[in-house]
Amino acid sequence: MTTTERPVAAPPQFHVLAKPTGAICNLDCSYCFFLSKEALYPGDRFRMSDEVMRAYIGQLLAAHTTLNVTIAWQGGEPTLMGLDFFKRAVAVAEELKRPGQRLEHTIQTNGTLLDDEWGAFFAEHGFIVGISIDGPRQLHDIYRVDKRGGPTFDKVIDGLEVLDRHGVDVNVLCAVNRMNADHPLIVYRFFRDFLGLSFIQFIPIVERENDTGFQEGDTVTDRSVTPEQWGRFLVAVFEEWITNDVGDVFVMTFDTALAKWLDIKGGLCVFAETCGDAIALEHNGDVYACDHYVEPKYLLGNITDTTLVELIAKPEQRAFGDAKRDTLPRYCLECPVRFACNGECPKNRFTLTPDGEPGLNYLCEGYRKFFTHVDPAMRKMAELVRSGRNAEDVMEILGAERSARYAGVGRNDPCPCGSGRKFKQCHVHVV
Ligand code: SF4
Ligand code: SF4
Repeated sequence: MTTTERPVAAPPQFHVLAKPTGAICNLDCSYCFFLSKEALYPGDRFRMSDEVMRAYIGQLLAAHTTLNVTIAWQGGEPTLMGLDFFKRAVAVAEELKRPGQRLEHTIQTNGTLLDDEWGAFFAEHGFIVGISIDGPRQLHDIYRVDKRGGPTFDKVIDGLEVLDRHGVDVNVLCAVNRMNADHPLIVYRFFRDFLGLSFIQFIPIVERENDTGFQEGDTVTDRSVTPEQWGRFLVAVFEEWITNDVGDVFVMTFDTALAKWLDIKGGLCVFAETCGDAIALEHNGDVYACDHYVEPKYLLGNITDTTLVELIAKPEQRAFGDAKRDTLPRYCLECPVRFACNGECPKNRFTLTPDGEPGLNYLCEGYRKFFTHVDPAMRKMAELVRSGRNAEDVMEILGAERSARYAGVGRNDPCPCGSGRKFKQCHVHVV
């Protein structure tokens, strides 16, 4: 298919998460929602053939009207395909890219199978590698375990060392769960100070309690982060970041929030007004509405019969995307931070609003707290950016404001922040 044959409903740019091993992984993380997806393909070997890989890359490149195209691999654990598969994939992409197209290769991995050959390959082709790690050893090893239930922390650190040796760009993906959520600063500082990483994404674990692994039911497992914990976690990390790290450390939730205050498109789909432009490609060419909706009723078709761009333009996929905006409960429609939150991901909308309307996001309380808390700082940063200054200047401005606010307060005085605690037990560290 050429770009001139694009269905009119197709978005100019879209994202495909390709899962070459399907849900298969060498680990057995307790909260992983992919593992139950094995049941969708009974008896399958879960390996993407070169034919499907070539169809995927060719269709992706043909479908994009933009010059930059991201080729993204995820799992399960994609490195189980072996390095040669990815060497062939990069060669296919080079062969099929159109003049002027710029490729960005990304891969999300648990990092445990990486060696120097992988490191050299990623470096040579400019891969951005996402590594899943949930914090320091004692927090990471609670849920991120191998098939025998054993710890994986050391293997992940070995993988990170490989990537560091080869100068590969690394993003950290941290799943915030019931256990690590109470330690926001330990987790954040571990990434920043111990691992020296600058690109961090926090994702909340909201795992529904059911036997299907689908988005059904309205209770969550006890591994899931609570809404209150999630709000506290984000606020605590934000305070550390806005005080010390703006411009040096990039936290996707904060970057996307700033984009909202600037009224531009942010990076995270969960805060977009609509969705539907991020589809999941299974190992056999099946395409689903989203990586979180790999379920029979969200199957769009197979790329060996129908091209990616035709699948993403299907009316049911467009309706899936628009439903995110069109099904918001009144509580969200009237919410002062809706422009930033947009009701977050539909997969988490299974609770009732205070007046009993269904469809409220389980994490609402946390998001309200977070987006309300960051409003003053976000306004300042947006103002700086609009006037041509750097967002990081906000640290100096806020620092001066804080010094003025807390000047002359005695250690045993009530903290001016209104917490009711003594200054020495509260904001003494900010002056
Ligand atoms: S369903 Fe959720 S994760 Fe999927 S595209 Fe929509 S917002 Fe993003
Ligand atoms: S904070 Fe809560 S009420 Fe506001 S948009 Fe988000 S989910 Fe809806």
